Amino acid sequence: MKYHVATFGCQMNEADSQRLASELEKLGLRATDNRAEADVLVLNTCVVRQGAEDKALSYLNMIKPLKQRNPNVVVGVMGCLVGVRGNTPLKRAFPWVDVFMAPSDPAPMVDFLLQREGKRLADEETQARFALQDNAAPELRFRLPAHEVGKRVSVNVPVVYGCSHACTFCIIPFRRGVERSRPLGEIVAEVRDLVAQGVKEVTLLGQIVDRYGYDLLGEDYAIKRYNPGAASGIPSQNIPIHTPLVDLLQAVNDIEGLERVRFLTSHPNWMTDELLDAVRALPKVMPHIEVPVQAGDDEVLLRMRRGYTSDDYRRLVERIRAKIPNVAIATDIIVGFCGETEAQFMRTYELLEELRLDVVHLAKYSPRPHTLAAREYADDVPEAEKERRFRLLEAQHERITREINQQYLDRTVEVLVEGKHKGKWRGRTPQNKLVFFEDESRNWLGQLAQVKITWAGAWSLQGTVQAQPQETERERALVASA
Ligand code: SF4
Repeated sequence: MKYHVATFGCQMNEADSQRLASELEKLGLRATDNRAEADVLVLNTCVVRQGAEDKALSYLNMIKPLKQRNPNVVVGVMGCLVGVRGNTPLKRAFPWVDVFMAPSDPAPMVDFLLQREGKRLADEETQARFALQDNAAPELRFRLPAHEVGKRVSVNVPVVYGCSHACTFCIIPFRRGVERSRPLGEIVAEVRDLVAQGVKEVTLLGQIVDRYGYDLLGEDYAIKRYNPGAASGIPSQNIPIHTPLVDLLQAVNDIEGLERVRFLTSHPNWMTDELLDAVRALPKVMPHIEVPVQAGDDEVLLRMRRGYTSDDYRRLVERIRAKIPNVAIATDIIVGFCGETEAQFMRTYELLEELRLDVVHLAKYSPRPHTLAAREYADDVPEAEKERRFRLLEAQHERITREINQQYLDRTVEVLVEGKHKGKWRGRTPQNKLVFFEDESRNWLGQLAQVKITWAGAWSLQGTVQAQPQETERERALVASA
């Protein structure tokens, strides 16, 4: 039997699809790129904006004929379109879909297949292949899908699911539920399994990854009070003085054979000094921070219930740059949020001009069901105006990033090679900059290459590979800043 998983959306969805694929392969299924030949066809969905939701619905309508032609095909829908509470209107609208799975939960599909296919799946041949796999690597608890073993260099690893924040524009807490951290030991074991299958880099994922482990520690652990003030609309709460994410980073950093660790997405209110010091001190943790600001105007931030001001964000960027040498900072911006005036938008433009961040992920505000903004605020910025503001920030971002990347010219950077693209090797620097180089003398997949940059654009760098040095770029940076 063959399976095909189509994935829309974020890194968390990519990780969820990978875990689903791993579970399906345990049942003896094999991946196919051709959805027309799949016995099991799954769509993993995103609804963070209306456009993403429309894309998922049109994909579903597109695969309906496959089901009509062959009713034995098992069709599944997963992710934020379904949500943690299920989606009855969706089930009514798509009665021909066999299985609906909440985000990060492949179990309903596994149960469905075992029930329906139990007989066939349990035949000798499948059992034998399964046993074969077991004997091959009995200690592995998390297996990459077969077609990724030895090829996949960088893998996303969810560490905290859901989000307990309540930004007024965001649908994620409604679809992925409150924050739930995975036990540290389970994550470390999984990363070890990934390294045993050739993985060199992991990205630890969470909606607010800095809050990893707070829910595991429980309220009575707290000895510090977080009180953003009544005006922010965010409830005050006890928070632990120690940042559990630091323990996780330390444990993953110590895994033999792993080269690099990244983590995302951060939130300005939860980036502690302890966390920043750990990023600086742990050699495998990359100097790359993803911390959304969303807007540069304090009134807009208040209406978004982000819980900080633009000055708080400025101070955070200053702290990050002071503590972590050569750090790259990425952020998210929403343009055209309810009530955003031209003057308020220009404060976002000015903030980005001032901070000159490495990456700015841009989005136009899109009302989402159930959110406070959709319920209480008017979506009053016209689409054309959202588009104008989006294009203005896009052009600003391209100019600033191109200027930032010029500083890499003639410098030798360390690149973890992830694969080939149009005949060139492709990989990333510690700052997550995309680098391409040509070299047919060896197989660079999963290797650390020293590349001298000869060309720098806004979105990528190009260079020539150099002889391997004694110490890595990261080690040199740490020695230099010591
Ligand atoms: S922090 Fe805010 S924007 Fe991010 S997932 Fe949570 S509610 Fe959504």
